[in-house]
Amino acid sequence: QLPPTTVLGLGSMGSALAEALITAGHPTTVWNRSATRPEPRGSTRAATVPDAVAATDLVLICLLDHGSVRDVLGTAGPLNGKTIVNLTSCTPAQARDLAAWATERGAAYLDGGIMAVPPMIATPAAFILYSGSQAAFDQARPVLDRFGESHYLGTDPGSAALYDLSLLSGMYGLLAGILHAYAVVGSEGVAAVSFAPLLTRWLTTMVGFAASAAEQIDRGDYSVGVVSNLAMQSAGFPELLELAEHSGISPELIAPLGPLMARRVADGHGHEDLTGVIELLKKGADHE
Ligand code: NDP
Repeated sequence: QLPPTTVLGLGSMGSALAEALITAGHPTTVWNRSATRPEPRGSTRAATVPDAVAATDLVLICLLDHGSVRDVLGTAGPLNGKTIVNLTSCTPAQARDLAAWATERGAAYLDGGIMAVPPMIATPAAFILYSGSQAAFDQARPVLDRFGESHYLGTDPGSAALYDLSLLSGMYGLLAGILHAYAVVGSEGVAAVSFAPLLTRWLTTMVGFAASAAEQIDRGDYSVGVVSNLAMQSAGFPELLELAEHSGISPELIAPLGPLMARRVADGHGHEDLTGVIELLKKGADHE
């Protein structure tokens, strides 16, 4: 028999996780706060949290936020000997707190960050970050691999959340730029669908910045391999803001980078790469 598993939470993501387990043939117990959400076909619905937790050794949690996880686990009854995998988004500090809380109660704790939307679960597009108890990861792996590619980041329970939120930060920066670009071309009547192929092509090329910037950042040397120096980029940036203003488009999604570039140039780094702006973001830098 495949490892039986409990899933707490039948929101969009919890349901997708439970369905992946059922499809793969795992006996699956589910629980949800409101009875209005239907249980996936083939699962066993538990009436209470203690019943759901008592049903299997492995308990997956996918609720709205950290507060709801604390509320629900607080009513779970004995956790001794359980393996808890928390797939709810949280901060590293929240993950570490919950790991300590669960460990005190005799449970093994693994934290997870899902890098997928629900329809991607159980497809090759999904990857999921894990950190915390190595024993919990090893034991739960046959179950976890059903959801997508599993990446174990080490025993610090906060690591998965750190990586998850950092990946999301990169994503939101990209999405902000995309929205700004569509707003600006749209102001002159260009349909987003006609602009999309060029925007996609340009961003696909520019995503190489992630790797080239990483080398400069790890060396702490922003003068290596510079092809477009910061002074040039900083001189051109006001044109973006001028166009936005002329087009009646709010610059708020892209504006913050301008003053950071200008400060870095003023500090004598104009010959270096844009990457050096990271120095102004660090703790202890003179934030304005
Ligand atoms: P939904 O809003 O669809 O579902 C939220 C779930 O949390 C419901 O089961 C809801 O129960 C439950 N819940 C909320 N508050 C409480 C509470 N106080 N006590 C008990 N249960 C509670 O969210 P998703 O399923 O989309 O997201 C779940 C987690 O997965 C989040 O942490 C999210 O960040 C993460 N995630 C989601 C992704 C997505 O694209 N959806 C992508 C990656 C991660 P009820 O039915 O009773 O309201």
